[in-house]
Order: sequence, then C-alpha cells, then structure tokens
Amino acid sequence: MILLENATFLDPVSGEARPGTHVLIEGDTVREVSDRPLSSASAERVDLGGRTLMPGLIDCHVHVVAAIVNLSQQAVLPDALVAFRAAGIMRDMLMRGFTTVRDLAGATHALRVAWEEGLYTGSRLNICGKALSQTNGHGDGRGRYDTRHQPRGLGALCRVADGVDAVRRACREELRHGADYIKVMANGGVASPTDPIAYLQYSEAELRAIVEEAEMAKTYVAAHLYTDEAIARAVRCGVLSLEHCNLIQPETAKAAAKAGCIAVPTLVTYQALKEEGASLGLPPESVAKIDDVRLAGLRSLETMRDAGLTMAFGTDLLGAMHRRQSEEFSIRAEVLSPLEIIRSATTVAARLLRMEGKIGVIAPGAWADMIVVDGDPLKDVRILARGGEVLPALIQAGRFVKRELH
Ligand code: ZN
Ligand code: ZN
Repeated sequence: MILLENATFLDPVSGEARPGTHVLIEGDTVREVSDRPLSSASAERVDLGGRTLMPGLIDCHVHVVAAIVNLSQQAVLPDALVAFRAAGIMRDMLMRGFTTVRDLAGATHALRVAWEEGLYTGSRLNICGKALSQTNGHGDGRGRYDTRHQPRGLGALCRVADGVDAVRRACREELRHGADYIKVMANGGVASPTDPIAYLQYSEAELRAIVEEAEMAKTYVAAHLYTDEAIARAVRCGVLSLEHCNLIQPETAKAAAKAGCIAVPTLVTYQALKEEGASLGLPPESVAKIDDVRLAGLRSLETMRDAGLTMAFGTDLLGAMHRRQSEEFSIRAEVLSPLEIIRSATTVAARLLRMEGKIGVIAPGAWADMIVVDGDPLKDVRILARGGEVLPALIQAGRFVKRELH
C-alpha cells in the first residue's frame, strides 16, 4: 500500500485543484481520496509537498508499432524487431506521462499480455488489432506497380478487405484476436502512396456492415477521416470515433455532436511531418499531401468546439517523431482552454475507450495511474508539453515507474 500525502489534486471531473489531498493506493487500485489525513499502519507514506497530482494522461491516437516513418518498409520488418521497438516506444510514452494509449492500427493482444507479465514497462494498451482498408485505401501501402499481397506481419498496420462479406469476416477476426474496437480507413491519407486526401473509401454498405459487426460485439468503430464529405458519411453510417477531422465544416460538426460522436484531432503529427517527414524517409508522394490537411488544423478545433463536438487527445506520430508527443498540448492551447485539453486526455479519453471509472480519474476503484506535475496545468496547460521534464513522479497500476521527489 502507498499513501500519497499533501497533494494538490487536479480533478478533471470537477475542474478544480484541491490542496491538502491524501490518496491511499492498495495494490493496483485507488482505495481512498480524502481532504483529511488518512491513516494506514502498513502503507508507505510519500509526501508530495503540495505538488500537483492528476490522473495519468491518455493518448487516444497512437501507433506503437510504427518505429519508422516509411510504413511500406515498416510492414515487412521481422516481428521480433517490431515488438522490441514497440516496447521502447511505449516506455517513452509512459515517461511522458501517458499511462494509457489507444493504438489505432498494429498493436496486438500479445503486446498487452507481455505488459501484464511485466516483460516491459510502458503505457497500458487499448487496441483495434489491424485497421481495415479497402484495396487502394489508406491502409494499402503498395505502390503503383506493386502486385504482391499485402504483408501480414506485426509491422503491417492494416489489412485489406473488400466487400461486405470480407469486411464482416475481418471485423470478426480482429475481435477474436483481442481487438477492443474496430478501426477503418474511410478516407484518403498522407502516409499512403496512391490515394489522394479527397478519396472516399469503403462503400456505405461496407461501412454500415463494419458498424453492425462492432455493435454486435458491444463495441464501436473509429474511422480515419479528413474531408467534410467523408466525415458526414461516416457519421451517417454510425461511426463513433472520428479521427483527425482536419477539414470538418460546421454543419457536419453539429451532426456529429448530435450523434454522440467523439472527434480525435492529431495536429502535432502534421507539424512534425512538415518539419522532418522528408528527412526521416517519408516518400515524396506523401510529403506532397501534408499541407492539404496541416493548414486547416487549428481552424478545425474552433469549428468542433463551436459545434459542441467533444474532442479527445490524440497525436498519431510515427518513428523518430514520437518524441514530440507532448507538443500536442501547446498546439491545442492556441484554441482551447486548459481544462478542455486536460479533460480530452483524461475523462473524455476514458469515455471514448469505454474505461470510465478505471482510467482518467483518481477515485476509489480506479486503477492507480497518476502523475505528479511540477506546476499548475490548469493555469498553463503548456507545461504538459514539456513531457517528462516536469513530471517528477509517475505511478502506474499502483507502482512508481518514476520517483524523483526531492
Ligand atoms: Zn489516420
Ligand atoms: Zn493514425
């Protein structure tokens, strides 16, 4: 047992910071949160000296197996290399304060089992298995003249399936392999070679079949989307998690809010791709598409906020650009309030992942995933953009994974 004393508890639920809070952790779970001193004979007492204590951060759009930027090369790497690199990427994410991440293509149940067995220290994983893509879709990494079959190893983020029967089978297989939800590529993308951003991907019949399969399994669909037309279509077909949304317009944002969707903008990745994508091996046909979506990024945040469309925190970085994960906080701060951004990475994220009460909060019964911050993110959320530098202590599943409290 651990007893955290004298914390300033930043509670994303109430939106307040409460000094003089005490938290009792038993095993991997929060037992008690109190504004009066707690007593426990067996607990180790840790004085936080008035520092900010908040729930561990949740990144709702990552690719932990994408250790290099060129996804076609990534797709044929040996599984062992991909797995060890993924463990390193997740360790770094955890050290930036992300105690949970939702992987949007590639991570497997086996990686989660390895985490549970303590084979690596890293973020808690929520997964979709392989993302579904149509032939010549965003998940079809084959170039113009490539007639080989799509790679199927751990390094391949997506699987190609065409037609209602095939997408149903693909959903069922990913669910059998341990997917928590289903991911589908429903629009053109940057990192793929042959599909312009404007392409609509998958017919409505296929999208509706995918949504039906997910709902039968009591889960939901997340879709890769940029253009207003593609987003409107996805909302109409029952998709709940709207990834990126850079080119969304007010009417569609309102319709999405009404349908109960959650959008997951990922603005830092376009900034990173612009600045270093080409030098890190992003192919020229992809570099040419970056500004089609990057330039609309901040405007999309305003549009979604004004429409009342809930937003969760996401980053979508690849390869060596993962180190920029925390920058998303300062980009969003140009448009959104600190509390909106903090909630996007805690309570809203927990709702999206359907893990409410377990993550994103510090409350009895929740997993003991929390971070200690030097500074007050409610006053200036941009301090979180400095990542591990401002986080002297990190607790995940009731265990200190970093402890530099002096
Ligand atoms: Zn995407
Ligand atoms: Zn992505």
